[in-house]
Order: sequence, then C-alpha cells, then structure tokens
Amino acid sequence: MRFERQREDMVRQQIEARGITDPAVLAAMRKVPRHLFVSEALRDQAYGDYPLPIGEQQTISQPYIVAEMTQALALSPEDRVLEIGTGSGYQAAVLAEIAFRVYTIERIYPLYTRARKLFDQLRYHNIVMRYGDGTAGWAEEAPFDAIIVTAGAPRIPRVLVDQLAMGGRLVLPVGDQYTQDLIKVYRDENGLHQVNLGGCRFVKLVGEHGWKP
Ligand code: SAM
Repeated sequence: MRFERQREDMVRQQIEARGITDPAVLAAMRKVPRHLFVSEALRDQAYGDYPLPIGEQQTISQPYIVAEMTQALALSPEDRVLEIGTGSGYQAAVLAEIAFRVYTIERIYPLYTRARKLFDQLRYHNIVMRYGDGTAGWAEEAPFDAIIVTAGAPRIPRVLVDQLAMGGRLVLPVGDQYTQDLIKVYRDENGLHQVNLGGCRFVKLVGEHGWKP
C-alpha cells in the first residue's frame, strides 16, 4: 500500500508532469513494483527522482529516463524488443508489460542471475535472458521491432542497426563517458533516420562494439 502510493506519486509528479503521454507506458510504470528491483536497504528510495546503485558499480536508471526511452520506442503489443544492459531488470519488466517478448542481455554475471530470479518470481514469462556482451545484439532472434541500449555507447553500433526490422526503432545514449545524447534511429521505406532526444548520463556500454573493457 505504501509503495503503491509512492508509485502513483512517481508517475504523476515525475512522469506525467514532464510530458510522457503514451498510455501504455504510464500503465506499465504504475504496475511494475520498482522497489523489488533494488536492495532492501534502498527500498524507501526506489520511487525517488534519481538513479540508484544496484551493485557492481552499476545503476537502475531514474524513473523518468525509463519512461522517456520506453515512449521513444513507440511499442505495440505484438512487438519483439531487444534490451542491452539488463541491470536490475526494471526496464525489461516495463517493456514486458507492453510488448510481446523482450530479449535482454547483461554482461555482469551476478546482475544477470539476480534479474533472472526476479523475473521468475514476478512471472515475467515473456522475458528471455542472455549472459554476455550485448553490443553485437542477438543475431539468432533478429530482426527486432525495437532495440534499447541502457548504457552509454561511444558510437552507434552498426551491427545493432542491422538487426532492426522494417519500421524498427533503436534508442541509445551516445557520447563520451561523462555525458551522452539520447539518440533514436529508425528504419522506414526511405532508409535510416536519426533524431536527437537530448542529453543524458549513463554508465558505459562495455564490449566489442562499445567501450573497450
Ligand atoms: N536497464 C537497467 C535497469 O533497468 O536496471 C539499467 C542498466 S545500467 C544503467 C547499465 C547496464 O548495462 C549494467 O548492468 C551493465 O553491466 C550493462 N552493460 C554494459 N555493457 C554491456 C554489454 N556490452 N552487454 C550487456 N550489458 C552491458
């Protein structure tokens, strides 16, 4: 009850107030129990307007950035989505509330196993996980209707763009290790297009097509 109220306040004051309007995104943010995706010691801060540490020097993103990136993906219920950077699993759960199936990849083993357990507990049967470097995408399951990268890349990995279906959308932070721009790439019958959605700050995307380990 306490967390439900905090979640409702989060959606009203941080998400709706800043202009997120996609009803599916708002419904998902109202539903997913964000406090279960952080350690017990941080539960009371789970609905605050900031990112939080999740261990292994990684973070769960600020609620607003999760909503902004999810809205930018313009998801439909039949979409298949790839996420690079499972982290706590919160963003994947939000995607799984909206889309048909979510494929998510995490390169840090303890985060991978923790998220996997949580998806089982919360019965997110439409989330498929993989452990390893996600910068090369998931060729066996491509093409995807949407791809989201939740870590900062030095450049747009071409291999991910190549895994976009016709009409597909890719959203990712691109920049140096301190600040990035949130970039949306989409493919239509006229080719590829790119839009800058504004500044953001993420931990590094580390891997073959990201920052070198
Ligand atoms: N989406 C996450 C959530 O909802 O909690 C937040 C992700 S956190 C900001 C970034 C995550 O990307 C970290 O867990 C990090 O280990 C992961 N990551 C970084 N480079 C990666 C790569 N090449 N492949 C897969 N995961 C990666």
